Amino acid sequence: MSPMERLHAVMGKLALSEADALVESRLEQAVKDESSYAEFLLDLLESEWQARADRNLQTRLKLAKLPYRKTLEGFDFDFQPSIDARKIRELRTLRWMHEATNVIFLGPPGVGKTHLSIALSIEAMKVGGSAYFVSAADLVADLTAARKEGKLSARMRIYQRPKVLVIDEIGYLPLEPLGGTLLFQLVSARYERGSIVLTSNKSYGEWGSVFGDPVLATAILDRLLHHSQTVNIRGKSYRLKDRERAGFPPPVEGPSPDETNDESKPDESTGAGSGE
Ligand code: ADP
Ligand code: MG
Repeated sequence: MSPMERLHAVMGKLALSEADALVESRLEQAVKDESSYAEFLLDLLESEWQARADRNLQTRLKLAKLPYRKTLEGFDFDFQPSIDARKIRELRTLRWMHEATNVIFLGPPGVGKTHLSIALSIEAMKVGGSAYFVSAADLVADLTAARKEGKLSARMRIYQRPKVLVIDEIGYLPLEPLGGTLLFQLVSARYERGSIVLTSNKSYGEWGSVFGDPVLATAILDRLLHHSQTVNIRGKSYRLKDRERAGFPPPVEGPSPDETNDESKPDESTGAGSGE
């Protein structure tokens, strides 16, 4: 076997698939550029490393079950001046993830709560963290079904595993008493162990009616908010932006955020708390 054939064989055994595929072209390039041996090797191994990081990220993204991909770069902060850009920059450091604390986005529909939750999850995955996205309704339905089948603890473990669990849209639907209890169990299980990123169109003061039980709501909030940051977004729906620009009135079924009644507006007195 020639040295090159042996090299391919060894790289195959070491599972260096990217380097294996690139070695000839990179070698040629190195000769052309008169690179040093070290530079050549560095270039080759960096390509291998990059390809692995990309593959790992793709795997994590698939496992995260994001409803769509959105980034922080794709968020127009000028459109939503109620969001403190400094706070988002701080969230971007992912300190909250490393410290297993929670991030909660409150605000009316269309202001970017889900977008920002997804974007933060992607940031987390970029540095090797795992994430999982689920709507509150799906989460509760899933846990309820699992309980019925006697598989609750196995299912709970699925939601306990990721570094970041996004629970989207608390409050859009009222929860059954059992649903509230299961959610409480999950929040307790993740408490100080893994981060929850949560979105809600209801202020904390309204959670009693969401859970149909003020005591349960208080117990959940107690754990959720103990180590947490809340981002209150108050402003216009991005979804209505283009409609309004075109001169259309707001749609009838989705209330314009400007007209939203106090029920769906996050309450400043309770919403701004950072319990750290
Ligand atoms: P919410 O979860 O608060 O109801 P979403 O995050 O789903 O709102 O936002 C609705 C749509 O508008 C999404 O497609 C989102 O990407 C987009 N969007 C919202 N706010 C912004 C913004 N400030 N810049 C860019 N896109 C935005
Ligand atoms: Mg949303």
